[in-house]
Amino acid sequence: MTEFGFIEQIRRLFAPIPDQGFEGIGDDCAVLPLAGGEALVFTADLLTEGVHFLRHATSARELGGKSLAVNLSDVASMGARPVATLLSIALPRDAAQSWALEFIEGYRTLSERYSTPLVGGDTTRSEAGITINVTAIGRAPLTHLKRRRDARPGDVIFAAGELGASGAGLRDLLAGRLDTPLAALHRNPVPQVDEGVWFGSRPEVHAMMDLSDGLASDLRHILDLSHVGAEIDLEQIPVAAGSDLQTALCGGEDYKLLLTADTASAERLTAEFRTRFGTPLYPIGRITSEAGLTWLRNGRPEPHDWQGFSHY
Ligand code: ADP
Ligand code: MG
Repeated sequence: MTEFGFIEQIRRLFAPIPDQGFEGIGDDCAVLPLAGGEALVFTADLLTEGVHFLRHATSARELGGKSLAVNLSDVASMGARPVATLLSIALPRDAAQSWALEFIEGYRTLSERYSTPLVGGDTTRSEAGITINVTAIGRAPLTHLKRRRDARPGDVIFAAGELGASGAGLRDLLAGRLDTPLAALHRNPVPQVDEGVWFGSRPEVHAMMDLSDGLASDLRHILDLSHVGAEIDLEQIPVAAGSDLQTALCGGEDYKLLLTADTASAERLTAEFRTRFGTPLYPIGRITSEAGLTWLRNGRPEPHDWQGFSHY
């Protein structure tokens, strides 16, 4: 069974159980509308040693930061501001002392930067390998929330940053080149928290998610849930220096925001984003009413069987 096959199975099995007001499985976060027009959002991400990280290739401090960053990214990708986290961690004997303290120092530094207190969790021993689970909670006006299902035909598709740096950094790490700038980027992702909140306040932004598995697979979630298709202009993809086109589209863990916006407002959105954040917003294609994902180079279809990155 694939990762998404299992999630689909879970959805079916739990469909008869009352939702208690939650919008549940399927987006970057689960949503709970509150009285008074606000909403809370919830997300959980797991990092396991050997699958998501190699202990010799990352410091405990960096891992503490990364395990928080990837969750803050999911909250921001809904257009919400993260407000608190919970941390559960299983530690083997050989990581119990200084490793754990360094880890939590890295986690704390990022918590301070984003003003997100750590408000609970669980700590236990592991027979082998470190396992980390973070739950992040965010808050936003309900009308600000951006979902994967809201892309509309004609929308411009944007990436809110360069792509492929993390994938190229992972390649460096796996080849034993631990101290390249790209490897450091892979270990220290920067979640687009302020950007996500800003997009949340913009009604012309329709669908949004964060890029964790690579555009080639993540964009398909938006397309499937919105019942639309897309054309992507390959020459417009902002490939990070030191990376390449395929890594930019299929490599994971860039944690840049992917969004769609009304074409009439696209130019203003791009200009105001640059004014606010000092970096470009990259238009990379458009949403079509016809289903399917089409890669174009200078307007001509170019067939690729590109898929995103999967740990499963
Ligand atoms: P992301 O990459 O944003 O973390 P995923 O692609 O991992 O999201 O997950 C897709 C959806 O499936 C999300 O809504 C997530 O909450 C849900 N999901 C994943 N695993 C489980 C699980 N074990 N139980 C319930 N929901 C899950
Ligand atoms: Mg996500």
